[in-house]
Amino acid sequence: MSDGSTGEKLTELAKRRGYFFRSSGVYGGVGGFYTFGPQGAALKGNLEEAWRDRFAVAEGHMEIDAPTIMPEPVFEASGHLEGFDDMLIECPECGATVRADHLVEDGTDHEDAESLPIPEVEAVIAEYALSCPECGAGLADVAVEEFNLMFSTRIGPGDSQPGYLRPETAQGIFVEFPRLSEYARNKLPFGVAQIGRAYRNEISPRRSIVRTREFTQAELELFVDPTGDGPDLEPVADVPVRLYPASAQADGGEELRTTIGEAVADGTIADPWVGYFMGVAQEWYEAVGVDPDRFRYRQHLAGERAHYASDCWDAESEVDGNWIELAGFAHRGAYDLSNHAENSGERFTVFRQYDEPKTVERAAVDPDMSELGPRFGADAGAVVEALERLADRDRAAFDGETVTVDVDGERHEIDVETAGFAVEEETVAGEHVTPHVIEPSFGVDRLVYTVLEHAYREDEVDGEPRTYLALEPAVAPTAVGVFPLQRDDALEAEARKVARELRAFGLSVTYDDSGAIGRRYRRQDEVGTPFCVTVDYESLEDRAVTVRERDSTDQVRLPIDELPATLAALRAGDRSFEELYSNN
Ligand code: ATP
Repeated sequence: MSDGSTGEKLTELAKRRGYFFRSSGVYGGVGGFYTFGPQGAALKGNLEEAWRDRFAVAEGHMEIDAPTIMPEPVFEASGHLEGFDDMLIECPECGATVRADHLVEDGTDHEDAESLPIPEVEAVIAEYALSCPECGAGLADVAVEEFNLMFSTRIGPGDSQPGYLRPETAQGIFVEFPRLSEYARNKLPFGVAQIGRAYRNEISPRRSIVRTREFTQAELELFVDPTGDGPDLEPVADVPVRLYPASAQADGGEELRTTIGEAVADGTIADPWVGYFMGVAQEWYEAVGVDPDRFRYRQHLAGERAHYASDCWDAESEVDGNWIELAGFAHRGAYDLSNHAENSGERFTVFRQYDEPKTVERAAVDPDMSELGPRFGADAGAVVEALERLADRDRAAFDGETVTVDVDGERHEIDVETAGFAVEEETVAGEHVTPHVIEPSFGVDRLVYTVLEHAYREDEVDGEPRTYLALEPAVAPTAVGVFPLQRDDALEAEARKVARELRAFGLSVTYDDSGAIGRRYRRQDEVGTPFCVTVDYESLEDRAVTVRERDSTDQVRLPIDELPATLAALRAGDRSFEELYSNN
């Protein structure tokens, strides 16, 4: 609690009021793991529900729930085993492990060191004589290494097979594509959403729930026909956005204020589907309480982009004076499905029927088994399959006198004549296409942090300082606080009855009868409860109660029998408190 920044005050409030705190504290805690307390779990749950409503239900997409542990072949195919690395530098003096790109970003004016190759990062560390953030020892000549972020485990006892905790929810969708495609009756486009935990052994977890080792993602994988029509942009065309294109980042240029429609039309956003989701997300983020003045889209620089992504934009929010990534919007092409097809040998395609049957040329093999049988014995079948796949994939491989195939890691050279290679004409009704993938990938924990930070307010009420969270009513953990004015059997019985009725209406209600009424209001303000209802002596006579709104502290008198429907409408945003207040 040194400089009293919003971040520090918020983290203190979060712990004290049950939003989030470091896990396993009784055993000293461990970096990068947080528990959401009663308020935090409710806020996070409401945000997830809001995401589900907008990105799955309202778009007509499916949702699945896949395991968090997956076997090794999944991550061989996805490329995570090979390349899901961050740059690690270890202090030779104190042993602290630090992300080298963050060290560079914190100590120089490089904004995106993640996109630099390792030798360049080492050179920058040496040039600026950067030192260990823990003990101050110089790191100039220390090697930077790749560190794989996946947590590994063993599945089952004995000769168990290796498994990994998924570093993103996406792979649980991709590996099930053949079945999911059937559920979608093989019609493109279709989308599959998933909300669930992901795990990354982050080198330096930081800023509480902003960078943790276990977190929740909400991802949508939209499978589209690569030659198909794009989305109807009309619903989002006029959505205003603030864009920070790669070109502007590279030459110190300005951010762009434009609309989704214009940005897609002039090519700033290359892919219309990516643009569509950015537009939907812009409005959704605002609706759940992200301050639009502290929100932007930043395009990935070429070196930062995953090798498969043709275009990628991050949604970023400004918290504690820094921009953090809230979500990524990527065009992943056919990368994921092609890799799983190749590695699993299964079909990851959709059959596209032509309007009219077409005559096409097809390369095929008709191997001479009297030669292959004696030569390969039990492996002959596998050799034939390899020849068939090769003919399908790469005709040019049969141009010479011999052709080479790999079977179980062994290379075999076979005469093209023996393979019986020929190109034939065929009438076909359609073709198998590998869909392309558009992926909006949201982090839920960073959104919880952003929504809280953007809602954090301090003001003065009745001459006393007050802290409150101006959370959107629709996502606030508690919708209503219900109080008896003071300790009194009749008031308490009436207030409990009011609370019960509100709960029966589906509202989340907290009942509080301890302490002075002003203090009870403050407690609810501090956790962001948008409305409080007080039952007083008059209520017993006139069957009406006082409803107080959190931000303005204005109060109105409402009949008890209108209360549930009115509060539910206020929470959903269908009615405004100002309108109630001015009519009262
Ligand atoms: P970063 O560059 O910040 O490490 P990333 O680009 O690796 O993030 P993605 O792989 O695009 O992140 O993951 C999608 C989303 O998941 C991110 O936008 C973020 O909101 C969330 N996320 C990723 N890593 C973490 C983490 N360690 N803690 C909390 N949320 C995370």
